[in-house]
Parts: sequence; structure tokens; C-alpha cells
Amino acid sequence: MAMVQAVTRQADSLAQFDYSPAAKRVLARKPALFINNEWVRSTHGATLVVEDPSTGKEVGRIVDASDADVDRAVAAARTAFDDGRWSNLPPNKRERIINKLADLIEAHAAEFAELEAIDVGKPVGFASVVDIPASVDHLRYMAGWASKLGGEVMDPQSLPRGTVFSYVAREPVGVAAQIVPWNFPLIMATLKISPALAAGCTLILKPAEQTSLTALRLADFVAEAGFPPGVINVVTGNGHTAGDRLVKHPDVDKIAFTGSTEVGKLINRNATGTLKRVTLELGGKSPVIVMPDANVEEAAPGAAGAIFFNSGQICIAGSRLFVHRSIFDRVIEGVAATTGFWKPRPSLDPQAHMGPLVSKEQKDKVMGYIAAGKRDGASIAIGGDAPAADGYYVNPTILVNVKANMSVVREEIFGPVVVAQRFDDLDEVAKAANDSCYGLAAGIWTKDLKTMHRLASKLKAGTVWGNCHAVIDPALPFGGYKQSGFGREQARQGIESYTELKSVIIQL
Ligand code: NAP
Ligand code: MG
Repeated sequence: MAMVQAVTRQADSLAQFDYSPAAKRVLARKPALFINNEWVRSTHGATLVVEDPSTGKEVGRIVDASDADVDRAVAAARTAFDDGRWSNLPPNKRERIINKLADLIEAHAAEFAELEAIDVGKPVGFASVVDIPASVDHLRYMAGWASKLGGEVMDPQSLPRGTVFSYVAREPVGVAAQIVPWNFPLIMATLKISPALAAGCTLILKPAEQTSLTALRLADFVAEAGFPPGVINVVTGNGHTAGDRLVKHPDVDKIAFTGSTEVGKLINRNATGTLKRVTLELGGKSPVIVMPDANVEEAAPGAAGAIFFNSGQICIAGSRLFVHRSIFDRVIEGVAATTGFWKPRPSLDPQAHMGPLVSKEQKDKVMGYIAAGKRDGASIAIGGDAPAADGYYVNPTILVNVKANMSVVREEIFGPVVVAQRFDDLDEVAKAANDSCYGLAAGIWTKDLKTMHRLASKLKAGTVWGNCHAVIDPALPFGGYKQSGFGREQARQGIESYTELKSVIIQL
């Protein structure tokens, strides 16, 4: 079959490649939820379609969880937390179990990468070298914290020494509900579950309705890794029903959410009723700034990768490109020169670097922004259109002649669309870069260290990259300034957000 395909396939064909037997097996499964280490049927028959964005065709079904399904998962997590079957384990045992889950994902890396490609539309090559290894990394990094997290002995400042013994204990926060988006499903799932598990929490994971396959496949390995029942529960379904139920549930102690700023604000409001702990990783409109002395041969492809990777569906996308007037044309030509590399292809094509967008809705939204940009007076330097195909492809697009008040400049497009602007000096570009309600990330391209540090200190962003983009590491805190988020994930701060502090003062 593979040979036939190789012979008949046109070089520029957008026809999807065949699925492997392993992927077909996963897609053919009966929709079910993972609760208490068992696959269970929903209390009602509602399902959601699993679609391959490279073809626009239905390839499977998942459960659209009912309120009763969500309640059942929360009850399982609550019991598992309250009886201490997980939080009271020796930390090194928790560490080993989390690492075992990482090993099992790694052992099935090719299958996970293929499922991610089918579900999200992302190139299988990138899924193999980015998504799956990063997911394994998140688990392994946080596993190590299980045995390192602790409290401290602290003397009161107002009492004579030796009259009391006081200490600060760190305890797991309890049951965490974790709601994630569709752009990096397995990374988002592991980024969320790893600190919760290492801290001793139990959890309910709700993947995005469009992309639940890898979270469900991960659940297959939970019991084998050694997690007791009820520690990890996976509930698929709609955000406004299943997600909302989790956010308002009285037995959930913490909400960790990654997604749009709009839904993040809603979740924050809805979690207030029970005053849950909340961490939010939200949208962005990140600037990439190319200073006049930058190496254009590196900066131009860097700026292209910053926006076209994952079809621009990444919260840290470098979607506003600021280039010094003296090199503007050269940099734009350099970005345009990469569009052959980023030409959309079906996700299972081994040659693909950019796939389709995740859904028709997302494609329509992105095309709508491009149309709005044109109406507002922006010009298209390259792209601006979509290949004729059933899949949700959009060509890499650069918009120039844009103004600060245009929707394409202000709003998160979440597609392969960059707006490029000229600037004259550092203070001007810092001000323009900060002129956004978002503050997730920023990139600076310069050879001058002084310029790099001066600009880095002026930018209001949770992460600043110098001469690179999108380098994310579990050891460094990740999160947003302003409306890009609330709290930090990863690193020590990430696991600490799954804990409560308890001060104990004992009179001697
Ligand atoms: P979204 O619409 O905000 O959805 C994210 C998750 O929240 C999904 O699981 C969704 O369920 C659920 N949800 C929706 N409404 C809810 C509600 N009322 N209560 C509880 N849960 C609810 O975001 P998306 O469209 O999937 O992802 C794109 C957005 O995520 C972009 O804006 C992007 O910037 C942001 N993002 C941010 C980061 C970051 O780290 N900062 C990372 C990735 C993406 P459904 O599946 O049913 O919609
Ligand atoms: Mg899908």
C-alpha cells in the first residue's frame, strides 16, 4: 500500500496518508471515560465527532460527558485524595510511578505522534520530535520534585527562642480539575498532570473536545504505571458543560486552565463561588523585534518559524513582527523565502512542516481576520489565501502596511498570519511591543548584548527570547503578564501552585 501511494502521489497532493493499524485500533474504540482506573460508559449516549483536519472527515467518536459523568469522576478523585492512597505514598514511590508513565509514553512514541497528527493536523515529524519528547520531559522533570518538595522550620520574630517550635508544612492542595486546549494536546495534558501528581494531588483532566485522543490513550497506561484508582481521571466533553461543571464543583479544590483569555476570565469568575485556587495560561500576541544589527540570515527564518510553526496555533506565536526600518525589506523577503518550507501539507506526510488548522471554525476565523485586515487597509506581502482542499489549510501569510488599531494587530488570530511593522529606535519599539492587553512572550534579535538586556527589561512578557523563539523548558517558569495569564507553570513555582502552606506553632 505504501508503495502504491509513493507511485501515485503527486508531489503537491493534499491527500492524507494511510493510518497505521495501531491508530485505527484507537479510533475504532467505543467512546468511554477513564474513571477509577476503569473505562466506563457515559450515563447518556451523547458523543462528539473526532475529525481529521487534513481531510475534514469524521474518523471516530468520543464521549460528551454528562453532569453525572463529571460528578462520578470528581467523586473518584475526591475519595482517592481524602484516603491518602496517593498523597501518603513515600515521595520516591510517587516519583517512580510518574517516571513509569513517562517511560510508557516514550515506548509508544510513534503511535502518540501519529494520533496527535491525525487529531490536531500537526505534522507527524514535528509531533515526533517536539510534542512527544516534551510531554515525557514534563513528567520526568516534575517526578523529581516529588522527593524534593518540603517545608521549613521558621522561628517567630516576637517570641523568645526556645519557647515555641514552629514550622511551615507544604501539603497538596487536593483535587485538581485541569482543562486544556487543542493545540498541543499531549504536552498540555502532561504539563498539567505532572506537577499535580508530584505534589500528591488527584485530578480530573478534561482535554479539548476537538483533540482528546492522546489524553485517552495516555489513560491506557495509568494503571500499568502503578497509579492507584481515582488518582488520574480523564473526562472528555464540551467546555461549557463538562468543563463548567468541573469549575463550579464543590469537591474540586483547584482549577488549572490553558486556553483563550475569554474563557479564562469566565472560569476565573465561575471558580469564585467556591474560591478555588486558579492558574490560567491564556492567549498572546507576542512581538518579535529585529534590531538593525541582527543577523538577517538567522532572524528571518527565526521570525518565520515563530509564526508558522504549528500553523500559528500556539499561544507564544510571534504574531507581531517589528523590524528596524533599515532592514525591513530584507527581513520580509527572508521570511517570504521560507514559505516553500512552510507550505501546507497533510499531517501524516513525512515531508510536512505545516499542516492544516485544527477545524473549519478555526480556518474560517483566520480567513475572517485576513479579510478584515485587507478591509482595514493592510497589504498582503505573501499568502492571504487557502489551498483548494477538503482539509482546513491556510497558506503562510504576511501582512504589511498595518496600523496599531487594526484587529489583525490587536487580536490573537491563532493562525499562520504575521503582521509586520517598521520602527526607528529601541524606546519606540518597546512601547509598541507593550501596546497589547497580552504579555505572554517576546523575541529579540540582535548581536548587541547591551541592546538585548535593555530591551528585555522593558518588555512586559512572561518569557523573553534572545536570538531564538519558542524555547520552553520545564525547569523555567512559564506564564503571562497582563491578560495572558495568572500564576506560573513549570519549575518550582509550577509545583508550588498545587500546594497549600500550613504554619504550625507549638508552645513548649
Ligand atoms: P478555549 O476555547 O478557551 O478552550 C480551552 C478549554 O476550555 C477547552 O477544553 C474547552 O472545552 C474548555 N472550555 C470552554 N469553555 C469552558 C467553560 N465555560 N468552562 C470550562 N471550560 C471551558 O481555547 P481553545 O480554542 O481550545 O484554544 C485556543 C486558545 O488557547 C488560544 O487563545 C490560545 O492562545 C490559548 N492557549 C494558551 C496557551 C498558554 O499556555 N498560554 C497554550 C495553548 C493555547 P471545548 O473543548 O469544549 O472548547
Ligand atoms: Mg480532531
